[in-house]
Amino acid sequence: MSDRKTELAERVAEVKEQLAAAAALADRNPEDVHLLAVSKLHPASDIRALAETGQMDFGENYVQEALGKLEELSDLDLNFHFIGGLQSNKAKFVSGNFGLVHSVDSRKLAQALHKKAVSLNVVQDILIQVNISGEVQKSGITEELLPDMADAVMEMEGVRLVGLMTMPPFFDDPERARPVFARLRELKVVLEKQVGTKLPHLSMGMSGDFVPAVEEGATLVRIGTQIFGARPPQG
Ligand SMILES: *Cc1c(COP(=O)(O)O)cnc(C)c1O
Repeated sequence: MSDRKTELAERVAEVKEQLAAAAALADRNPEDVHLLAVSKLHPASDIRALAETGQMDFGENYVQEALGKLEELSDLDLNFHFIGGLQSNKAKFVSGNFGLVHSVDSRKLAQALHKKAVSLNVVQDILIQVNISGEVQKSGITEELLPDMADAVMEMEGVRLVGLMTMPPFFDDPERARPVFARLRELKVVLEKQVGTKLPHLSMGMSGDFVPAVEEGATLVRIGTQIFGARPPQG
């Protein structure tokens, strides 16, 4: 194995061990927690190396970068998730290309993903991103708007709502993010009653805060830095 591949494999193994430990603490089945390796701004060669070790789920943030990697790695059976901020006018590049879109934060965006999916004759799985902490600069819709948006999304046959995503503010102490994760889980329970269907996924937890996220019910954790190391600047 190349040095880089060994290093990446070791880091994934370490993260998985920590995920399993957190799941065990919360009496959860570790198999219900899926690791997304967030590969934004890291080279396709890193993704290929990790795929050779069996890590097939990756998260990308930037449409153009992600599409380039999809093409370069099209010989592999990878599952790319779109997790970054997305403008409605770019939705046409996303529907059908990503297993799950985590960052749907407006009706307009959901509508654009739906339209493209219908034209491709596919159903695009999505999460609604909720801004729990209410920070102005964070993306995600507010809790207040969630019920209406969910109703609207349920009417769109090109998208299938499978859960919620959130991204708390950065805290030095990850325990401070715990109430945000707990709230997302509560919102999911309420929403399941409202829409009358199970929503299997809670996408929450990043390198700095995935332990409390898993303890609070995360099914998808999005880990970049702890696997790949620091990201090079965007540009
Ligand atoms: C970049 C990013 C991550 C990964 O963050 P790390 O701190 O590097 O683990 C997770 N989720 C989203 C939405 C991101 O943009």
